[in-house]
Amino acid sequence: MSVIRNNWTKEEILEIYNKPLMELLYEAATVHRKFHDPNTVQVSTLLSIKTGGCPEDCGYCPQAARYHTDIEGNDLMSVQQVKAQALRAKSSGSSRVCMGAAWRNVKDGPEFDQVLEMVRTINKLDMEVCCTLGMVTENQAKRLAEAGLYAYNHNLDTSEEYYKEVISTRGYEDRLETIENVRKTNVTVCSGGIIGMGESTEDRAGMLVALSTLSPQPESVPINALVAVEGTPMEDEKPVEIWEMIRMVATTRIVMPETQVRLSAGRTEMSREGQAMCFFAGANSIFAGDKLLTTPNPDVNEDMEMFKTLGLNPQKPFIKISQPKTVEAKDSEYQSLGEKPRWTRPDHTIERNELAKEKSKLATKE
Ligand code: SF4
Repeated sequence: MSVIRNNWTKEEILEIYNKPLMELLYEAATVHRKFHDPNTVQVSTLLSIKTGGCPEDCGYCPQAARYHTDIEGNDLMSVQQVKAQALRAKSSGSSRVCMGAAWRNVKDGPEFDQVLEMVRTINKLDMEVCCTLGMVTENQAKRLAEAGLYAYNHNLDTSEEYYKEVISTRGYEDRLETIENVRKTNVTVCSGGIIGMGESTEDRAGMLVALSTLSPQPESVPINALVAVEGTPMEDEKPVEIWEMIRMVATTRIVMPETQVRLSAGRTEMSREGQAMCFFAGANSIFAGDKLLTTPNPDVNEDMEMFKTLGLNPQKPFIKISQPKTVEAKDSEYQSLGEKPRWTRPDHTIERNELAKEKSKLATKE
């Protein structure tokens, strides 16, 4: 039970997922105790450094420019703005800042240089820095690592089969290639997915196969419950039941014992009792702050009250991997290559994405 395996099959994972709940919980909690302190939970703050206007068509995302949602877009934040937010996050117990930009992929140039400066600035505050900026090349990953990046987030979202029902503007292999590029550096990998997008249990298991057979397994796996936002193709999806979330967390914990399992989007819909069961099942990280990029999240004070009730402590930074060194821009070993990588653009058609796009055009005309 305690050996890290990179050869999980879908059948084995389904068998775990479908166990009687009490047995599943007991097994997951046992693995969890073997690899982690069960009373410590890592707290991250997610910061949307560039919001909205994204050219991609991810069916769950209100930031895609082609859907009509009521999010307010903003251009790339300044380094000073990010620093102020990071300091606030640190004083309320976060050990990590995760910066998200609504980009298809990173483009070399002044905006990326600005993000590199943000990474340097936050690392110097002795906080773990994570970025989620879309696809990255090997050279870009190296530049992020050199600036002091601790983790790069790039979610697989779902199984390879179901991915074609969610996104038509890029392929699963692009995701895997970016993860591979990050793995060529010392930056840790954060990659997970979303449940509640209309996928089957087999797809959930398929995603866990894809993640757990990466070698090494991702250091961090966020499990999100879909927040169905009006105007997106998934606006009518039913909320995920807490039992599904618990089963997903527990199964992730068993197949990836060393990984930090993150309770991510969808926490506002979960009771404290439900979240407590997720922590028991092996979740050991949350995102703090009242917004998760653009969707609602519990208030920091509510989370700290919950921690008190459950006897949980926020994890200190750099517990597993030491703090990366920051190399200043003037001493950098890497150049901006001005790369124009050819990421895939499968451009097959997804009916519900097309419908949402059409609805958006009509709404904009009105
Ligand atoms: S999930 Fe990311 S890539 Fe997809 S539409 Fe939203 S911001 Fe763009």
